[in-house]
Amino acid sequence: MNEEFKNIPSKVNLEQFDVSSFAKDKIRDLFRTGKVPTAEVMVDEILLRAVKSEATDIHFEPTENELRIRYGSEGVLKKLVSLPREISENLANVLKTKGALNAFEKKKPQDGRFSLNVGLHQFDIRISTIPVMAGERIALRILEKNARVTSIEELGFTPENLDKVRNVLHRPNGLFIVTGPSGSGKSTTIYAAVNDIQSVEKNIFTVENPVEYKLDFASQVSTSTDKTFTYVEALRAILRQNSNIIMVGEIREAETGIVAAEAALTGNLVLSTILSDSAIGAIFRLISIGVPPYWLASTLIGVVYQQLVRKICPSCKEEYIPVTDEEKRFASMLSGNDAKFFKGKGCDKCENTGYAGRTGIQEVLVLTDQMRDLIYQHASIMKIKENARSGGFESIFQDGIKKVKSGLTTISEFYRALG
Ligand SMILES: [Zn+2]
Repeated sequence: MNEEFKNIPSKVNLEQFDVSSFAKDKIRDLFRTGKVPTAEVMVDEILLRAVKSEATDIHFEPTENELRIRYGSEGVLKKLVSLPREISENLANVLKTKGALNAFEKKKPQDGRFSLNVGLHQFDIRISTIPVMAGERIALRILEKNARVTSIEELGFTPENLDKVRNVLHRPNGLFIVTGPSGSGKSTTIYAAVNDIQSVEKNIFTVENPVEYKLDFASQVSTSTDKTFTYVEALRAILRQNSNIIMVGEIREAETGIVAAEAALTGNLVLSTILSDSAIGAIFRLISIGVPPYWLASTLIGVVYQQLVRKICPSCKEEYIPVTDEEKRFASMLSGNDAKFFKGKGCDKCENTGYAGRTGIQEVLVLTDQMRDLIYQHASIMKIKENARSGGFESIFQDGIKKVKSGLTTISEFYRALG
Protein backbone atom coordinates (compact mmCIF):
# COMPACT_ATOMS: atom_id res chain seq x y z
CA MET A 1 0.00 0.00 0.00
CA ASN A 2 1.28 3.46 -0.88
CA GLU A 3 1.86 5.27 2.45
CA GLU A 4 0.92 8.67 1.05
CA PHE A 5 -2.54 7.59 -0.01
CA LYS A 6 -3.24 5.42 3.02
CA ASN A 7 -5.23 8.11 4.80
CA ILE A 8 -7.54 8.96 1.92
CA PRO A 9 -10.78 7.32 3.05
CA SER A 10 -12.86 5.03 0.87
CA LYS A 11 -16.32 6.34 0.04
CA VAL A 12 -17.88 3.07 -0.99
CA ASN A 13 -17.81 -0.37 0.54
CA LEU A 14 -17.48 -2.20 -2.79
CA GLU A 15 -17.30 -5.57 -1.09
CA GLN A 16 -20.98 -5.48 -0.12
CA PHE A 17 -21.85 -5.63 -3.82
CA ASP A 18 -19.63 -8.63 -4.54
CA VAL A 19 -21.75 -11.26 -6.26
CA SER A 20 -19.14 -13.90 -5.57
CA SER A 21 -19.49 -13.42 -1.79
CA PHE A 22 -23.17 -12.57 -1.36
CA ALA A 23 -26.40 -13.84 -2.84
CA LYS A 24 -26.99 -12.28 -6.24
CA ASP A 25 -30.69 -11.69 -5.49
CA LYS A 26 -29.92 -9.62 -2.41
CA ILE A 27 -27.46 -7.46 -4.31
CA ARG A 28 -29.82 -7.09 -7.24
CA ASP A 29 -32.48 -5.91 -4.77
CA LEU A 30 -30.11 -3.24 -3.54
CA PHE A 31 -29.69 -2.08 -7.11
CA ARG A 32 -33.40 -2.21 -7.90
CA THR A 33 -34.29 -0.17 -4.83
CA GLY A 34 -31.58 2.35 -5.60
CA LYS A 35 -29.58 1.70 -2.42
CA VAL A 36 -26.32 1.93 -4.27
CA PRO A 37 -23.94 4.72 -5.17
CA THR A 38 -23.99 6.11 -8.70
CA ALA A 39 -21.75 4.63 -11.38
CA GLU A 40 -19.54 7.75 -11.17
CA VAL A 41 -18.95 7.22 -7.45
CA MET A 42 -18.23 3.52 -8.03
CA VAL A 43 -15.68 4.32 -10.74
CA ASP A 44 -13.97 6.93 -8.53
CA GLU A 45 -13.71 4.38 -5.73
CA ILE A 46 -12.23 1.73 -8.05
CA LEU A 47 -9.64 4.22 -9.36
CA LEU A 48 -8.76 5.36 -5.82
CA ARG A 49 -8.26 1.79 -4.64
CA ALA A 50 -6.09 1.04 -7.65
CA VAL A 51 -3.84 4.01 -6.93
CA LYS A 52 -3.68 3.12 -3.23
CA SER A 53 -2.51 -0.38 -4.01
CA GLU A 54 0.01 0.90 -6.59
CA ALA A 55 -1.71 -0.94 -9.42
CA THR A 56 -0.44 -0.42 -12.95
CA ASP A 57 -3.64 -1.43 -14.67
CA ILE A 58 -7.34 -2.15 -14.06
CA HIS A 59 -9.45 -4.62 -16.04
CA PHE A 60 -13.25 -4.50 -16.29
CA GLU A 61 -14.44 -7.80 -17.73
CA PRO A 62 -18.14 -8.47 -18.23
CA THR A 63 -19.11 -12.15 -18.36
CA GLU A 64 -22.55 -13.70 -18.65
CA ASN A 65 -23.15 -13.37 -14.92
CA GLU A 66 -20.92 -10.71 -13.51
CA LEU A 67 -18.58 -7.82 -14.07
CA ARG A 68 -15.21 -8.99 -12.83
CA ILE A 69 -12.82 -6.21 -11.85
CA ARG A 70 -9.13 -6.97 -11.41
CA TYR A 71 -5.98 -4.96 -10.76
CA GLY A 72 -2.57 -5.61 -12.21
CA SER A 73 0.14 -4.98 -9.68
CA GLU A 74 3.78 -5.94 -10.09
CA GLY A 75 2.87 -8.01 -13.12
CA VAL A 76 0.31 -10.16 -11.31
CA LEU A 77 -3.48 -9.80 -11.55
CA LYS A 78 -5.53 -9.60 -8.36
CA LYS A 79 -9.28 -9.64 -8.11
CA LEU A 80 -10.89 -6.56 -6.59
CA VAL A 81 -14.59 -7.36 -6.82
CA SER A 82 -17.26 -9.05 -8.96
CA LEU A 83 -20.19 -6.69 -9.44
CA PRO A 84 -23.61 -7.59 -10.83
CA ARG A 85 -23.49 -7.88 -14.61
CA GLU A 86 -26.32 -5.32 -14.92
CA ILE A 87 -24.20 -2.35 -13.94
CA SER A 88 -21.36 -3.08 -16.32
CA GLU A 89 -22.80 -0.83 -19.04
CA ASN A 90 -23.18 2.12 -16.65
CA LEU A 91 -19.60 1.80 -15.48
CA ALA A 92 -18.44 1.46 -19.08
CA ASN A 93 -20.30 4.65 -20.02
CA VAL A 94 -18.69 6.60 -17.19
CA LEU A 95 -15.22 5.37 -18.16
CA LYS A 96 -15.74 6.00 -21.88
CA THR A 97 -17.03 9.50 -21.21
CA LYS A 98 -14.00 10.25 -19.04
CA GLY A 99 -11.73 9.05 -21.85
CA ALA A 100 -13.62 11.16 -24.43
CA LEU A 101 -14.63 8.01 -26.32
CA ASN A 102 -17.89 7.54 -28.18
CA ALA A 103 -20.17 6.05 -25.51
CA PHE A 104 -22.61 4.79 -28.14
CA GLU A 105 -19.98 2.84 -30.07
CA LYS A 106 -19.99 -0.62 -28.53
CA LYS A 107 -19.06 -2.80 -31.49
CA LYS A 108 -15.57 -1.50 -32.18
CA PRO A 109 -12.42 -1.10 -30.09
CA GLN A 110 -11.61 2.44 -28.97
CA ASP A 111 -8.76 4.02 -27.07
CA GLY A 112 -8.17 7.30 -25.29
CA ARG A 113 -6.92 8.83 -22.08
CA PHE A 114 -7.85 10.99 -19.13
CA SER A 115 -6.22 12.57 -16.09
CA LEU A 116 -6.81 11.62 -12.48
CA ASN A 117 -5.82 13.54 -9.36
CA VAL A 118 -5.29 11.75 -6.07
CA GLY A 119 -3.94 13.87 -3.23
CA LEU A 120 -1.14 15.93 -4.73
CA HIS A 121 -0.41 13.36 -7.41
CA GLN A 122 -1.51 13.41 -11.02
CA PHE A 123 -2.05 10.28 -13.04
CA ASP A 124 -2.41 9.74 -16.73
CA ILE A 125 -4.94 6.98 -17.43
CA ARG A 126 -4.99 5.25 -20.82
CA ILE A 127 -8.27 3.58 -21.62
CA SER A 128 -8.88 0.91 -24.23
CA THR A 129 -12.08 -0.99 -25.01
CA ILE A 130 -12.78 -4.15 -26.95
CA PRO A 131 -16.19 -5.73 -27.64
CA VAL A 132 -16.55 -9.20 -26.11
CA MET A 133 -19.47 -11.66 -25.94
CA ALA A 134 -21.01 -10.12 -22.83
CA GLY A 135 -20.42 -6.45 -23.56
CA GLU A 136 -17.23 -4.44 -23.60
CA ARG A 137 -14.03 -5.31 -21.87
CA ILE A 138 -12.22 -2.20 -20.67
CA ALA A 139 -8.59 -1.95 -19.64
CA LEU A 140 -7.02 1.07 -17.96
CA ARG A 141 -3.29 1.70 -17.73
CA ILE A 142 -2.21 3.94 -14.88
CA LEU A 143 0.87 6.13 -15.26
CA GLU A 144 1.98 8.65 -12.71
CA LYS A 145 2.74 12.05 -14.23
CA ASN A 146 6.02 13.66 -13.27
CA ALA A 147 7.24 10.36 -11.90
CA ARG A 148 10.98 10.28 -11.30
CA VAL A 149 13.05 8.70 -14.06
CA THR A 150 14.73 5.57 -12.74
CA SER A 151 18.51 5.57 -12.81
CA ILE A 152 20.22 2.92 -14.89
CA GLU A 153 21.82 1.45 -11.76
CA GLU A 154 18.39 0.65 -10.34
CA LEU A 155 17.27 -1.58 -13.19
CA GLY A 156 18.88 -4.73 -11.85
CA PHE A 157 21.69 -5.16 -14.43
CA THR A 158 24.62 -7.28 -13.27
CA PRO A 159 27.83 -5.19 -13.15
CA GLU A 160 29.05 -6.92 -16.36
CA ASN A 161 25.83 -6.16 -18.23
CA LEU A 162 25.75 -2.59 -16.97
CA ASP A 163 29.27 -2.09 -18.32
CA LYS A 164 28.23 -3.47 -21.70
CA VAL A 165 25.17 -1.22 -21.86
CA ARG A 166 27.14 1.87 -20.90
CA ASN A 167 29.83 1.13 -23.46
CA VAL A 168 27.23 0.96 -26.18
CA LEU A 169 25.41 4.08 -24.96
CA HIS A 170 28.56 6.14 -25.03
CA ARG A 171 29.07 5.65 -28.73
CA PRO A 172 28.35 8.77 -30.77
CA ASN A 173 25.92 7.09 -33.13
CA GLY A 174 24.02 3.90 -33.83
CA LEU A 175 20.73 2.21 -33.05
CA PHE A 176 20.15 0.86 -29.52
CA ILE A 177 17.07 -1.30 -28.94
CA VAL A 178 15.33 -2.34 -25.74
CA THR A 179 13.02 -5.28 -26.24
CA GLY A 180 10.73 -7.54 -24.25
CA PRO A 181 7.08 -8.51 -23.94
CA SER A 182 4.52 -5.83 -23.11
CA GLY A 183 4.71 -4.68 -19.50
CA SER A 184 8.38 -5.60 -19.16
CA GLY A 185 9.51 -2.07 -18.34
CA LYS A 186 10.99 -1.23 -21.76
CA SER A 187 10.18 2.46 -21.56
CA THR A 188 11.57 2.74 -18.02
CA THR A 189 14.82 1.33 -19.39
CA ILE A 190 15.17 3.64 -22.41
CA TYR A 191 14.36 6.64 -20.25
CA ALA A 192 17.02 5.53 -17.76
CA ALA A 193 19.44 5.11 -20.67
CA VAL A 194 18.79 8.60 -22.09
CA ASN A 195 19.05 10.04 -18.59
CA ASP A 196 22.43 8.35 -18.16
CA ILE A 197 23.99 9.91 -21.25
CA GLN A 198 22.34 13.32 -21.21
CA SER A 199 24.62 16.29 -21.28
CA VAL A 200 24.24 19.99 -21.91
CA GLU A 201 26.45 19.67 -24.99
CA LYS A 202 23.98 17.37 -26.73
CA ASN A 203 20.78 18.06 -28.59
CA ILE A 204 18.33 15.51 -27.21
CA PHE A 205 14.85 14.70 -28.52
CA THR A 206 12.16 12.20 -27.64
CA VAL A 207 9.27 11.13 -29.89
CA GLU A 208 6.38 9.35 -28.26
CA ASN A 209 2.66 9.03 -28.14
CA PRO A 210 1.99 10.26 -25.52
CA VAL A 211 5.01 11.51 -23.56
CA GLU A 212 5.51 9.19 -20.61
CA TYR A 213 8.01 11.02 -18.38
CA LYS A 214 8.91 14.69 -18.52
CA LEU A 215 12.62 15.39 -19.02
CA ASP A 216 14.05 18.85 -18.48
CA PHE A 217 17.09 18.19 -20.68
CA ALA A 218 15.22 17.05 -23.80
CA SER A 219 12.75 18.39 -26.36
CA GLN A 220 9.83 16.01 -26.21
CA VAL A 221 7.62 15.56 -29.22
CA SER A 222 4.21 13.95 -28.86
CA THR A 223 2.79 12.50 -32.07
CA SER A 224 -0.96 12.20 -32.60
CA THR A 225 -3.08 9.08 -32.28
CA ASP A 226 -5.09 9.86 -35.42
CA LYS A 227 -2.09 9.63 -37.80
CA THR A 228 -2.16 13.36 -38.59
CA PHE A 229 1.34 13.73 -37.09
CA THR A 230 3.36 10.53 -37.32
CA TYR A 231 6.63 9.25 -35.86
CA VAL A 232 8.18 9.47 -39.32
CA GLU A 233 7.22 13.14 -39.76
CA ALA A 234 8.48 13.97 -36.28
CA LEU A 235 11.80 12.18 -36.92
CA ARG A 236 12.35 13.91 -40.25
CA ALA A 237 11.73 17.29 -38.60
CA ILE A 238 14.12 16.44 -35.74
CA LEU A 239 16.86 15.53 -38.22
CA ARG A 240 16.69 19.09 -39.54
CA GLN A 241 17.40 20.41 -36.03
CA ASN A 242 20.94 19.13 -35.61
CA SER A 243 20.04 16.39 -33.16
CA ASN A 244 22.55 14.12 -31.35
CA ILE A 245 20.40 11.75 -29.31
CA ILE A 246 16.87 10.67 -30.25
CA MET A 247 14.59 8.45 -28.23
CA VAL A 248 11.79 6.89 -30.30
CA GLY A 249 8.98 5.41 -28.19
CA GLU A 250 8.44 2.27 -30.23
CA ILE A 251 9.20 0.88 -33.67
CA ARG A 252 5.98 -0.69 -34.92
CA GLU A 253 6.31 -0.49 -38.67
CA ALA A 254 8.98 -0.43 -41.36
CA GLU A 255 8.97 3.29 -42.06
CA THR A 256 9.69 4.34 -38.47
CA GLY A 257 12.40 1.67 -38.30
CA ILE A 258 14.02 2.88 -41.51
CA VAL A 259 13.96 6.58 -40.54
CA ALA A 260 15.34 5.65 -37.12
CA ALA A 261 18.17 3.75 -38.85
CA GLU A 262 18.72 6.71 -41.18
CA ALA A 263 19.02 8.99 -38.16
CA ALA A 264 21.55 6.57 -36.62
CA LEU A 265 23.52 6.54 -39.85
CA THR A 266 23.64 10.32 -40.01
CA GLY A 267 25.33 10.77 -36.65
CA ASN A 268 22.62 10.23 -34.04
CA LEU A 269 22.44 7.83 -31.16
CA VAL A 270 18.91 6.48 -31.54
CA LEU A 271 17.21 4.56 -28.71
CA SER A 272 13.97 2.70 -29.24
CA THR A 273 11.89 -0.29 -28.19
CA ILE A 274 10.23 -3.16 -30.01
CA LEU A 275 8.18 -6.11 -28.83
CA SER A 276 10.00 -9.43 -29.19
CA ASP A 277 11.02 -12.56 -27.34
CA SER A 278 14.80 -12.21 -27.12
CA ALA A 279 17.68 -9.87 -27.95
CA ILE A 280 18.48 -11.73 -31.16
CA GLY A 281 14.74 -12.11 -31.81
CA ALA A 282 14.49 -8.30 -31.94
CA ILE A 283 16.78 -8.26 -35.00
CA PHE A 284 14.49 -10.67 -36.79
CA ARG A 285 11.39 -8.83 -35.62
CA LEU A 286 12.75 -5.62 -37.17
CA ILE A 287 13.49 -7.47 -40.41
CA SER A 288 10.04 -9.10 -40.43
CA ILE A 289 8.22 -5.75 -40.13
CA GLY A 290 10.17 -4.59 -43.18
CA VAL A 291 13.39 -2.94 -42.04
CA PRO A 292 15.98 -4.15 -44.59
CA PRO A 293 18.88 -6.17 -43.09
CA TYR A 294 21.45 -3.79 -44.63
CA TRP A 295 19.99 -0.91 -42.61
CA LEU A 296 20.35 -2.91 -39.40
CA ALA A 297 23.77 -4.25 -40.33
CA SER A 298 25.07 -0.72 -40.69
CA THR A 299 23.42 0.84 -37.64
CA LEU A 300 22.49 -1.62 -34.87
CA ILE A 301 24.95 -1.39 -31.96
CA GLY A 302 23.20 -3.07 -29.05
CA VAL A 303 20.03 -4.82 -27.89
CA VAL A 304 18.77 -5.35 -24.34
CA TYR A 305 16.08 -7.94 -23.78
CA GLN A 306 14.40 -7.80 -20.39
CA GLN A 307 11.68 -9.19 -18.17
CA LEU A 308 10.57 -8.13 -14.71
CA VAL A 309 10.49 -10.40 -11.68
CA ARG A 310 9.26 -9.74 -8.15
CA LYS A 311 11.94 -9.35 -5.50
CA ILE A 312 11.85 -11.36 -2.28
CA CYS A 313 10.64 -9.24 0.66
CA PRO A 314 13.77 -8.45 2.73
CA SER A 315 11.77 -8.50 5.99
CA CYS A 316 10.63 -12.11 5.78
CA LYS A 317 13.24 -13.68 3.49
CA GLU A 318 14.36 -17.14 4.59
CA GLU A 319 16.41 -20.01 3.26
CA TYR A 320 14.62 -23.24 2.37
CA ILE A 321 15.22 -26.60 0.73
CA PRO A 322 13.64 -27.20 -2.70
CA VAL A 323 10.63 -29.52 -2.49
CA THR A 324 8.33 -29.07 -5.48
CA ASP A 325 9.10 -30.59 -8.89
CA GLU A 326 9.63 -27.14 -10.32
CA GLU A 327 12.13 -26.28 -7.60
CA LYS A 328 13.95 -29.57 -8.05
CA ARG A 329 14.04 -29.07 -11.81
CA PHE A 330 15.64 -25.68 -11.22
CA ALA A 331 18.15 -27.07 -8.69
CA SER A 332 19.17 -29.76 -11.17
CA MET A 333 20.21 -27.06 -13.67
CA LEU A 334 22.85 -25.80 -11.28
CA SER A 335 26.27 -27.30 -11.04
CA GLY A 336 27.54 -28.19 -7.59
CA ASN A 337 25.49 -28.76 -4.46
CA ASP A 338 26.24 -25.58 -2.64
CA ALA A 339 23.27 -23.61 -4.00
CA LYS A 340 21.02 -21.99 -1.43
CA PHE A 341 17.41 -21.06 -2.10
CA PHE A 342 15.36 -18.28 -0.60
CA LYS A 343 11.77 -17.11 -0.44
CA GLY A 344 9.66 -14.72 1.58
CA LYS A 345 7.45 -16.46 4.10
CA GLY A 346 5.06 -13.48 4.20
CA CYS A 347 4.83 -10.64 6.71
CA ASP A 348 2.94 -7.39 7.39
CA LYS A 349 5.36 -5.35 5.30
CA CYS A 350 4.65 -7.34 2.11
CA GLU A 351 0.96 -7.99 2.79
CA ASN A 352 1.86 -11.67 3.13
CA THR A 353 2.93 -12.03 -0.48
CA GLY A 354 6.60 -12.65 0.31
CA TYR A 355 7.58 -10.10 -2.33
CA ALA A 356 8.44 -6.42 -2.34
CA GLY A 357 9.12 -4.46 -5.52
CA ARG A 358 10.46 -5.73 -8.83
CA THR A 359 13.74 -5.96 -10.64
CA GLY A 360 14.84 -6.74 -14.16
CA ILE A 361 16.47 -9.83 -15.58
CA GLN A 362 18.23 -9.14 -18.84
CA GLU A 363 20.39 -10.23 -21.73
CA VAL A 364 22.63 -7.70 -23.43
CA LEU A 365 23.72 -8.19 -27.01
CA VAL A 366 26.58 -6.00 -28.20
CA LEU A 367 26.83 -6.16 -31.98
CA THR A 368 30.25 -7.04 -33.35
CA ASP A 369 31.44 -6.53 -36.92
CA GLN A 370 31.11 -10.27 -37.44
CA MET A 371 27.49 -10.22 -36.32
CA ARG A 372 26.76 -7.24 -38.54
CA ASP A 373 28.21 -9.20 -41.43
CA LEU A 374 25.92 -12.13 -40.63
CA ILE A 375 22.86 -9.85 -40.54
CA TYR A 376 23.91 -8.35 -43.88
CA GLN A 377 24.13 -11.86 -45.34
CA HIS A 378 20.65 -12.81 -44.03
CA ALA A 379 22.11 -15.45 -41.70
CA SER A 380 19.77 -17.64 -39.60
CA ILE A 381 18.93 -17.02 -35.94
CA MET A 382 21.00 -20.09 -35.05
CA LYS A 383 24.10 -18.73 -36.78
CA ILE A 384 23.82 -15.36 -35.08
CA LYS A 385 23.17 -17.04 -31.72
CA GLU A 386 26.24 -19.24 -32.09
CA ASN A 387 28.33 -16.25 -32.96
CA ALA A 388 26.99 -14.26 -30.00
CA ARG A 389 27.69 -17.12 -27.58
CA SER A 390 31.21 -17.58 -28.81
CA GLY A 391 31.71 -13.88 -28.05
CA GLY A 392 30.53 -14.24 -24.45
CA PHE A 393 26.82 -13.41 -24.80
CA GLU A 394 24.81 -14.69 -21.79
CA SER A 395 21.12 -15.44 -22.19
CA ILE A 396 18.40 -14.09 -19.93
CA PHE A 397 18.08 -17.62 -18.47
CA GLN A 398 21.63 -17.44 -17.20
CA ASP A 399 20.92 -14.00 -15.77
CA GLY A 400 17.72 -15.26 -14.12
CA ILE A 401 19.57 -18.20 -12.55
CA LYS A 402 22.15 -15.80 -11.10
CA LYS A 403 19.41 -13.70 -9.58
CA VAL A 404 17.72 -16.71 -7.98
CA LYS A 405 21.04 -17.99 -6.65
CA SER A 406 21.84 -14.62 -5.12
CA GLY A 407 18.51 -14.62 -3.29
CA LEU A 408 17.07 -11.65 -5.16
CA THR A 409 14.07 -13.55 -6.50
CA THR A 410 12.46 -16.99 -6.30
CA ILE A 411 12.40 -20.06 -8.51
CA SER A 412 8.69 -19.59 -9.14
CA GLU A 413 9.26 -16.02 -10.35
CA PHE A 414 12.01 -17.32 -12.63
CA TYR A 415 9.57 -19.75 -14.25
CA ARG A 416 6.73 -17.23 -14.33
CA ALA A 417 8.91 -14.84 -16.34
CA LEU A 418 10.81 -17.31 -18.50
CA GLY A 419 8.47 -20.31 -18.77
ZN1 LIG B 1 7.55 -9.85 3.90
